[in-house]
Amino acid sequence: MLQGQCAIVTGSTSGIGLGIARSLGAAGVHLMLNGFGDTAQIESLRAGLASEFGVKVGYSGADMSKPDQIRQMVKAAQDELGSVGILVNNAGIQHTAPIESFPPERWDAVLAINLSSVFHAVQAALPGMKAKNWGRIVNIASTHGLVASVEKSAYVAAKHGVIGLTKAIALETAKTGVTCNAICPGWVLTPLVQQQIDARAKRDGLTNDQAKAALLGEKQPSGEFATPEQIGAVCVFLCSDAAAQIRGAAVPVDGAWLAQ
Ligand code: NAD
Repeated sequence: MLQGQCAIVTGSTSGIGLGIARSLGAAGVHLMLNGFGDTAQIESLRAGLASEFGVKVGYSGADMSKPDQIRQMVKAAQDELGSVGILVNNAGIQHTAPIESFPPERWDAVLAINLSSVFHAVQAALPGMKAKNWGRIVNIASTHGLVASVEKSAYVAAKHGVIGLTKAIALETAKTGVTCNAICPGWVLTPLVQQQIDARAKRDGLTNDQAKAALLGEKQPSGEFATPEQIGAVCVFLCSDAAAQIRGAAVPVDGAWLAQ
């Protein structure tokens, strides 16, 4: 169904973004990868996805905190892959601290990468989608787009913003073949979350497994992490024809975190 479409997945050199890129690749979608990392490892990832799934795979090292680089990434994807029908805004960072000691430059970085990048990427990619009257914009928000936690002021503000922006885009595109939705993962075991597990283990004198259990126990009633593969499968569904009238939604994949 998605065979031959082209997708940009921001922040796809690791974690959830990589899971989404793999799921889209398996569905026959050409990919523009993005994110940071070791050059040789990224090239081997790029070539590996291309040969595993038989799709074209490009890479852009654009920094999602830089609007001009975001626009260049979209243009490179259009030039190299032909068009961009699917845009997955996934790149994100975290910083935890009480608001009184939250470094203002970390606030700016979290807002730029987690929220403003979505605006800039959509602004660049939407005209091409509208011209073909088909497009799928999937924003990776978070449970923290709907509820808060302590010491995450910037992240919570940015993710609430992503859900608001998702609704605004969904309304502006409502009469077109372009849809815009958000996915709200709970805890997914990625490098971003492992940092928080390490910090908790150090702070409370716990083993890695004990810190994982404590993290899940606090928020995620299932007691299990969601996986990048599960988020990828939900993303593929939101790109499908079956989801054509799902618009402006915030879809939780959170082990009942938000049910409480
Ligand atoms: P991760 O740290 O494993 O991956 C983040 C990706 O973003 C990497 O590819 C990294 O290189 C890229 N990135 C970071 N800064 C960038 C920048 N300035 N420009 C371009 N790329 C940049 O993290 P993850 O857990 O996979 O998170 C992915 C998304 O999912 C984020 O938006 C995050 O907020 C969201 N999320 C994660 C969880 C979780 O539990 N892991 C839960 C809810 C939401």
